[in-house]
Amino acid sequence: MSGPLRHAFRYCPQCRQPLAVGDEGGVGRPSCSACGFVQYLNPSPAAAAVIRRGNLVCLVQRKFAPKAGEWTLPAGFIEYDEAPDEAARRETREETGLDVRIDGLLAVHQGVLPPDRPVILIVYAATELGGELLAGDDAAAVGFWPPDAPPGPIAFSSHRRVLAALAAADREAGR
Ligand SMILES: [Zn+2]
Repeated sequence: MSGPLRHAFRYCPQCRQPLAVGDEGGVGRPSCSACGFVQYLNPSPAAAAVIRRGNLVCLVQRKFAPKAGEWTLPAGFIEYDEAPDEAARRETREETGLDVRIDGLLAVHQGVLPPDRPVILIVYAATELGGELLAGDDAAAVGFWPPDAPPGPIAFSSHRRVLAALAAADREAGR
């Protein structure tokens, strides 16, 4: 099955009846005729932080699958009751040991967490306030590199787009 329905429930999580795929304005949604439950298939929101030291940017190496060993901005999924900028600050603290201030929105990108989880990545500019640079949580290593010369492959296309934009802006600014 392709498209969002590959993630469809087959049975109602509330009353266990088989779900049928209803059609709401051309969008197929699994729904339960017994209790009215509807499964909305949405992308998962994630937040990332861009932290600069001069012309360098903070990158973390992933410790776990998917894409273990590859590199990303400090980033992670937003918790249920968490604001996106809080998530960016929390993930940065957990993965890099750095305390940051969120300065503003840099970009929003659509992406996919392999194998097929759609993600909306909200990217913030952030400034170091303190802490100690140390790989933690689900990071294997952390450090600062030029955005166009990371220490290894970048795990996700959305992060690659951010780094390409940073490198282009740096070139334009003569950094
Ligand atoms: Zn039901």
